[in-house]
Amino acid sequence: MENWKTRVRRVTPYTPGMQPAPDAKLIKLNTNECPYPPSPKVAEVFARFEAGTLRLYPQPDADALTEALAAYHGVAKEQVFTGVGSDEVLALAFLTFFAGEGHEARPVFFPDVTYSFYAVWADLFGIPYETKALREDFSLDAADYADAPGGVVLANPNAPTSLAAPLSLIEEIVAKNRGTVVIVDEAYIDFGGETALPLLAKYDNLLVTRTFSKSRAMAGMRVGYAVGNAELIACLKNTKFAYNSYTMSRVAIETGVASIRDEAYFRETVEKIKATRERLAKELSALGFTFPPSAANFLFVRHPQADAKTLYEALMKEHIYVRYFAAPRTKDYLRVTVGTEEEAEALLAFLRAYPPLHG
Ligand SMILES: *Cc1c(COP(=O)(O)O)cnc(C)c1O
Repeated sequence: MENWKTRVRRVTPYTPGMQPAPDAKLIKLNTNECPYPPSPKVAEVFARFEAGTLRLYPQPDADALTEALAAYHGVAKEQVFTGVGSDEVLALAFLTFFAGEGHEARPVFFPDVTYSFYAVWADLFGIPYETKALREDFSLDAADYADAPGGVVLANPNAPTSLAAPLSLIEEIVAKNRGTVVIVDEAYIDFGGETALPLLAKYDNLLVTRTFSKSRAMAGMRVGYAVGNAELIACLKNTKFAYNSYTMSRVAIETGVASIRDEAYFRETVEKIKATRERLAKELSALGFTFPPSAANFLFVRHPQADAKTLYEALMKEHIYVRYFAAPRTKDYLRVTVGTEEEAEALLAFLRAYPPLHG
């Protein structure tokens, strides 16, 4: 008799950071969330939300949000695709641009140290890939990405390294891959670095993805989007409509619009986080930590006297969660999200009293 267990799809899932139940004691610096709430305008839309409208499906193209984003970036609404977090947008982009039918599967290129979901989606969709080693200082060498057979995906600023690549380097990679799609994942761009959006006027093979999860404090609402030329976006929409017409809820669409409309709050929140980042960087340097210059809302730190995993565990005991990645090139580092000033102070207070740093 046939056993279903021999026929199921078996995948290796992405491992997200720990997401415990909300706890006042917990200092959560492990998943790069925003330490401040979303705009009060988001709270207002949420509070006044007409529950009766939930009997209706949302608009399949999330028109209100798509239009708000198009106006925000000064592009046509046909150039914007919205989804359930940028993870969904990226997954659909992999499926659409890197796993085309009728072509022999060709390897997609991405760095050896980057968002670990890229390899997971590639495996899920049967897309071959090659990782290219970042330099010792985690910078990108554009030459590694020339003529990538299946396309390229890059996070800029990169995670978990926090390093931003200059726009000229991103342009070089896009220009050297006119026959394939280059995806630039700009999850952290609001905190530093140069956006690739201006390149869209020159290149039809570029897709830029963004998220509301980090700088817009809406990780729990799941809102993400992509901007690209209208033809690319149309292909992406077709993939989405082949699997689920209604991905974004009415609540996500309306609160997303409210966030986009409150530019002042957005700027203020980002500036607060950047100010704390600079202070935290200075204090961590003084304690002997080293890290790449961060263009993101986290620091990627190591210390010559402290074993990263041991420190990670010691912090956890004190209810301070950071992220540790046990891979060969990242095992000596901790990724520390920039929290509030108080959270940064609690972390520093722990480190000032952590014996190995002062031995
Ligand atoms: C957080 C993150 C995402 C995914 O964010 P969503 O919450 O799914 O929008 C994508 N790429 C990188 C590099 C990230 O760090």
